[in-house]
Amino acid sequence: MLRSVILAAARSSQVERLVATAPFTRDVVRRFVAGARTDDALRATRALVDDGLAVTLDFLGEDTVTAEHANATRDEYLKLLGVLSEAGLTPPAEVSVKLSALGQMFDEQLAYDNARAICAAADEAGTTVTLDMEDHTTTDSTLDILAKLRKDYPSTGAVLQAYLRRTESDCRELATAGSRVRLCKGAYREPESVAYQSAREVDKSYVRCLNILMSGEGHPMLATHDPRLIAIGEDRARWFDRGPDRFEFQMLYGIRPEEQARLVSDGYTVRTYVPYGDQWYGYLMRRLAERPANLAFFGRALLSKK
Ligand SMILES: Cc1cc2nc3c(=O)[nH]c(=O)nc-3n(C[C@H](O)[C@H](O)[C@H](O)COP(=O)(O)OP(=O)(O)OC[C@H]3O[C@@H](n4cnc5c(N)ncnc54)[C@H](O)[C@@H]3O)c2cc1C
Repeated sequence: MLRSVILAAARSSQVERLVATAPFTRDVVRRFVAGARTDDALRATRALVDDGLAVTLDFLGEDTVTAEHANATRDEYLKLLGVLSEAGLTPPAEVSVKLSALGQMFDEQLAYDNARAICAAADEAGTTVTLDMEDHTTTDSTLDILAKLRKDYPSTGAVLQAYLRRTESDCRELATAGSRVRLCKGAYREPESVAYQSAREVDKSYVRCLNILMSGEGHPMLATHDPRLIAIGEDRARWFDRGPDRFEFQMLYGIRPEEQARLVSDGYTVRTYVPYGDQWYGYLMRRLAERPANLAFFGRALLSKK
């Protein structure tokens, strides 16, 4: 219930104005977002790589409605990849891209062209791109664009969301040689017709999908903070004899950093998803919806400012 309310607020410009101007917001944002500028992203990446983590960087923004804005997002990724390469941070750092930030909502061809330019720059820098997955109305379009990009850039990563009923079948399709697939639970508000609604059903689906990916030919990227699912991932890695170069764990910046460090020290590859930029509102609201306990963090920040 609370999750649905928060996810509905994520789409409200009125609530956005309220949250953006609240005095305590900065502290909360700082926990989950590396900063507003390319330099901030670079600094956070270097610190994580020094600690033995791999990184995927997300320039925040989504649901772009003008070509100008979509092209500006592409240009920021091109700049970022240049800066990372110069700093010697590729390949440990790659980028995550939302097609809706590149124009997918109003011009699929533009989104494809922009994504392709980013893939070319990543390839040149010696690293990879992963296409984030957004709400279910975009799944087919995103997988179509992925398939086209993979013709020239086969390392382009996909994201599949365990809460969608279709995902087991998508996992089977994508568990092919060289195919990088991030498996997550899913962060959007989805109707029952397309998505499992209870946490238990989503977790069970996650395990079924994880089994398909870990027993398949591709490169699974297990994106979760859930201790039970991480333990199952570790178990399947032993069972299917997958070393640190054949699968990875992924977690979000600012969430369970000790667990990220523990997995690194146990010899696993762990990639931290690092968002940066000033369009943090939708991202932050999805993090709050996942764990309404984070609202207490808001509360504490508010009290400490009084
Ligand atoms: C690297 C990465 C990339 C992602 N990419 C996408 C994507 O492209 N599309 C998409 O729809 N979703 C994406 N997600 C989000 C994902 O779908 C989930 O919404 C999110 O990861 C929470 O699910 P969970 O598996 O961690 O399990 P949950 O059951 O939500 O959480 C398990 C435990 O993890 C901890 N935890 C989880 N979330 C938080 C939080 N916000 N704050 C503090 N603690 C927390 C808590 O201890 C919690 O009990 C991504 C997640 C990761 C880690």
